[in-house]
Amino acid sequence: MFNQEEFIAQLSELISIDCGTYTPAGVNKIANILEGYFKEIGFYTKQIKVSDKVGNLLIATNQENPTHFDAVLLGHMDTVYAEGLVAKHPMRIEGNNIFGLGSIDMKSGILTGLHTVYALDKSILDKLSICFICNPDEEISSIYSQDFMGEYIKKAKCSLVLESAGKADAIVNKRKGISRFHVSFKGKSAHGSTPKEGLSAVIEMANFILKLEEFNNEAAQTTVNVGIARGGDAGNVVPENAELDFEIRYFDMDSQKVMMDKVESFVKNPSVKGVEITLEQLSFKPPMNNGAESQWLEDLVVAAALTAGNKLNVIASGGGSDGNYSSYLGIPTIDGLGPVGGYWHNAEREVLFLDSVEPKIDTLKNVLVKLSSK
Ligand SMILES: [Zn+2]
Repeated sequence: MFNQEEFIAQLSELISIDCGTYTPAGVNKIANILEGYFKEIGFYTKQIKVSDKVGNLLIATNQENPTHFDAVLLGHMDTVYAEGLVAKHPMRIEGNNIFGLGSIDMKSGILTGLHTVYALDKSILDKLSICFICNPDEEISSIYSQDFMGEYIKKAKCSLVLESAGKADAIVNKRKGISRFHVSFKGKSAHGSTPKEGLSAVIEMANFILKLEEFNNEAAQTTVNVGIARGGDAGNVVPENAELDFEIRYFDMDSQKVMMDKVESFVKNPSVKGVEITLEQLSFKPPMNNGAESQWLEDLVVAAALTAGNKLNVIASGGGSDGNYSSYLGIPTIDGLGPVGGYWHNAEREVLFLDSVEPKIDTLKNVLVKLSSK
């Protein structure tokens, strides 16, 4: 039986702690609390320090010294929020809505995994080898924890990601990959009255942005966003410097390569001849895109949900998750197994819909039951 009161009490504790990615002390508090919950149910736990910059990676397994896993369950402990915001936006419950920082992204997802284990018969759990991976830095593309997580993920038959699918009747089998870049432009300064004597870094940047805009291509399902653009110092000076940050998103690596080849040609062939352009890659996330050899997992999850009375649609999502990485490692991956809510990354409104938790627990429980006899 799902103990909703216990779930709310645990969630309340977890979302009352500032645990933005760059608040490692807060993320470690989350790790300690979760580690306690896992120990209570007899799991073997370990915290791994992955960097001074972020909190620890928490690993919890039901078997001692396992060499393989029937499933890894992925969740992240960090949020996108700056230190101090929890005090301004304390948890509040209004009917079916639980508002709070990290309520949907994704403390409720981790707790859904935990309560699924609570609901599982011991005889089933004993047949399984499962591993919870709770990482400290998903919101910055897991750059510090990724390789450590990989060691566990590679030992698994499948990867079950506890992020929210955004809809009650959905799971996610595809997510876009994301590559982020910083570009700097160096031109030549001149007096504003004699623009021909200078080389405007800002005009080159403007051209560069317009060329990038062509990556917004519905047929190829690729997008680009220039999130930051700045340049110049004064209204009467031809700007010598400019810089921008942009990201591209794609469902397959071929599309990524097409865009990357174009970006490199934009860098080599400036529209304003003589302006020097430097490209720096800030991060890379591969797409989550399961091959045919992963179809069994999709079928298994859909069937498991049906057994629990939930009809699920399999959808693609533009946002990334740690599922991108497990899929990239060749491990069959299904995401969106967490509950439903809204307003990710929005301190005022982030919300969990409480009535979505139990159906997700029922589904995940049936997934694990099916995996135990596979
Ligand atoms: Zn998340």
